[in-house]
Amino acid sequence: MPEDNEKKLGFATRMGHGGRAGVKVHGFVNPGVHRGSTVLYPDAEARRDSGSKRFERYMTYGTQGGPTHYALEDVIVDIEGGTRCIIVGTGLAAVTVPLTAFLKNGDHCLLPDSCYGPARTFATTLMKDWGIETTFYDPCVDEAGMAALIQPNTKVVYLESPGSHTFEIQDVPALARAAHARGCKVLMDNTWGIHNFQPFEHGVDVSIQALTKYVGGHSDILLGSITTNSEEDYRTIRAASSSMGHYASPDDCWLALRGVRTMAMRLKAQEAASIEVAQWLEQQPQVKRVLHPSLPSHPQHALFKRDFTGGCSLFGVILDQRYDQSDMFRFVNALQHYGIGASWGGFESLALPTSGFITRTAGSEDLGGPMLRVHIGLEDVNDLIADLAQGLRVLN
Ligand SMILES: *Cc1c(COP(=O)(O)O)cnc(C)c1O
Repeated sequence: MPEDNEKKLGFATRMGHGGRAGVKVHGFVNPGVHRGSTVLYPDAEARRDSGSKRFERYMTYGTQGGPTHYALEDVIVDIEGGTRCIIVGTGLAAVTVPLTAFLKNGDHCLLPDSCYGPARTFATTLMKDWGIETTFYDPCVDEAGMAALIQPNTKVVYLESPGSHTFEIQDVPALARAAHARGCKVLMDNTWGIHNFQPFEHGVDVSIQALTKYVGGHSDILLGSITTNSEEDYRTIRAASSSMGHYASPDDCWLALRGVRTMAMRLKAQEAASIEVAQWLEQQPQVKRVLHPSLPSHPQHALFKRDFTGGCSLFGVILDQRYDQSDMFRFVNALQHYGIGASWGGFESLALPTSGFITRTAGSEDLGGPMLRVHIGLEDVNDLIADLAQGLRVLN
């Protein structure tokens, strides 16, 4: 865990140094990859006493984590704040594990209508089968509105800001106040915010990240993190995670550690390029709206300015209503430098059709035109804009 004085260092400096102290590397710059299943006890008594140390960094078996996991955990705590972190194999596992840990048969959960799609699927299939009820709420609900949604059996208020695909910014402190006043845990998917939104300073209890995105940064790993702010929450989630056999590959943790070394610069460069692209798109007659929280045109830009120290390079684009989905497909197919693919946060740009692929029940799925999601990578921004310009010409 970082010392207080280290917390005052700049983000890029901290990302350069995080997770490197306390790992024996014989002088090499980077921690090694510690693969392993069996961990040898020094003696039989140590074996006997190991159970009482299960929440400490006391290695007893590969599934309990090892030095490579611990190094990454320390970096994630430095990025997000909080006290402890659990690394799991995917971002989706980082969503489902804390939900499973805090909810039992007969409980109720509040999920934003704009939550990550597979989180919605988890709630409407397995959670439902286990007798856990979910209400999907308008992500822009205010404190009183949230208070009215909370039932006597509500145990979890889940947040994701901005929302997946539609990019609504939530009033996290207000929603957390309403949740805590009624004894609910506040879980938040903070993948978009990364370090630009500090969840624990805004009332969140458990923060979820898909490290697959900017932390990995190179579109070559899947990983998730669950960060907590209290030892009690850590133990509750860790017990659930261990019971279900969750684990992350040390090789992938090592790649994530490599990713964080350059993350501060990548984020800054990619956000700046995405603002340039988004502002250019806003000027085009074929475009109805751009959904980018960093732009003044975003409906919750004031909340964004209040709570975030910056953004990232993922945003939505709604084409003019005179176009239909097949027009949007023609546009996306015409692009040369944007891959058509899920995920984001890598070095490469992506354009993903989204309208027709998302579910909304508290609000409308009709956004007034065909929608896609754009991720801006590290390519030259002039090339990216020129490519969009030639793509839009296909629509004329
Ligand atoms: C990608 C993503 C996830 C899931 O991460 P995976 O590692 O792909 O399972 C969760 N939440 C958000 C907001 C995401 O973008």
